[in-house]
Amino acid sequence: MYDFVVVNADQTTYTERQLPVSYADELRSGMPLSRDGACQLIRCGEDELPAVLAAAMEARQRFKPGITTYSRKVFIPLTNLCRDYCGYCIFRRDPGQTGAHTMTPDQVLKGVRAGERMGCTEALFSLGDKPELVFPEMRETLRRLGYKSTLHYLEAMCELVLRETTLLPHPNPGLLSAEWIARLAKVSPSMGLMLETTNASLLVAGAAHDNAPDKIPAKRVYTIEEAGRQNVPFTTGLLIGIGETLEDRVDTLLAIRELHRRYGHIQEVIIQNFRAKPEIPMHDQPEPTQGEMMRTIAVARLLMPDVNIQAPPNLSAPFYDELLDAGLNDWGGISPVTPDFINPEKPWPHLEQLKLRTEAKGYRLRQRLPVYPEFVPAVTTEPGLLSEKVKAAVDCDGYARRPA
Ligand code: SF4
Repeated sequence: MYDFVVVNADQTTYTERQLPVSYADELRSGMPLSRDGACQLIRCGEDELPAVLAAAMEARQRFKPGITTYSRKVFIPLTNLCRDYCGYCIFRRDPGQTGAHTMTPDQVLKGVRAGERMGCTEALFSLGDKPELVFPEMRETLRRLGYKSTLHYLEAMCELVLRETTLLPHPNPGLLSAEWIARLAKVSPSMGLMLETTNASLLVAGAAHDNAPDKIPAKRVYTIEEAGRQNVPFTTGLLIGIGETLEDRVDTLLAIRELHRRYGHIQEVIIQNFRAKPEIPMHDQPEPTQGEMMRTIAVARLLMPDVNIQAPPNLSAPFYDELLDAGLNDWGGISPVTPDFINPEKPWPHLEQLKLRTEAKGYRLRQRLPVYPEFVPAVTTEPGLLSEKVKAAVDCDGYARRPA
C-alpha cells in the first residue's frame, strides 16, 4: 500500500489515503494507467475510494487548475424520428406517434434566437439517425423542405445558424461518413458522437441495442477515427448502466484514449449515467449509483489526464457537485431556454445554483464555446465564415466572450 498527500482545489488536504502500491506507482511514474490498473481502480472498495479520488483530483489540478466550465446552449431537436430503437431512449418517435416532429427552418431560427437573447453560445443539434432510410414519411418531409437526406438538411440548418446568428452549431447526428464529417466541419466548429460502449453483446436480442444498427461499436469507432483524421474537435463518451460490465467501461475509455493518442482530437469525454423512466423498454433496469459515477469519472481522469471530462449535472441531482471530487472539469451543455429532451424529467440546475455549488468546491465557473479553448486554433486558421464566427464568439483565453 502507498500513502498519498494531495492538495484539493479548496486547499483541503487528502492525507494517508491508500492505494494498492502497484497502481500508485503506475500513476506516479507518469506512465499511462494500464487496463489492469484501471479495472482494479474502477472496482475499488469504499476504503480505497478516497485515494482513487485524490489521485484523480491531483491529475485534474495539473490539467486545468481552478476552473470548471460549461456551455450555455440551446437544444435543437431537429427531428426525433430515428431508425434505431435503443432500449433506454425516450427521445425517438415513429412517424404518426404522439410528439413526432421535424423542425422547420423557422422553428430552428426561432429557438436559436431565444438562446441568443439568453446569452447562449451553442446550438446543440440532436436528432435521430437516418430516419429517411426506413420511414417514407421522413422522405416526404425532406422532399417538401427541399433536401435529399436528414444530413443535407442538418448541414443547411447549421449553415443558417452560423450565418444568421451568433451561436455556434454543434451537431450530434449519429454515424457519419468521411465525406459528411468534412461537410459538417465546414459549418460547425465541433461535433459529437457518444461511443457509449465497446460491448457489442448489447446488440443481441433483449439487450439495450438489439434493434439499433447504428450502435455497432466498430462503426462508431470508425466515425470518431475519421473525425480524428480530419482534425475535427470531437466530443464522445460513455453511457453507463445499459448492461455493460465495469471492465467494459474501462475498455470503452481505453478505446477513446487510443483514438486520442493517435489523432489528438478528443476534446471532451462525457460520462453519462442511464436514468430509468416508466416509458422506456429498460424501465426496470437499475440505475448506476453515485459511487459508480465517481469511480468511472475518476478512472476516466486517470486514463486521460489531459482530456476534458464531463458529466451532466441534472442526471446526478441533487448531489451533482460531488462529481467534482472525482476529477470532473466540465458540466457540459446547460440550457436556460430548452429542456433536456433526452431526459426531460431531469431539469438542468439553474445557472446561478450551478455557479454557487461549483464555487463552493473551489472552482471558478466559466462559460465555454462548444469548441474547447485548446481546440479553438484548429478551427480558426482557415479563413471563412466558421473562422470569423468563432473568432467573434471567443475571448482572449479561448472561453465565451462576455457580452459588451
Ligand atoms: S438514443 Fe439516439 S440512436 Fe438510439 S433510438 Fe434514441 S435517438 Fe435513436
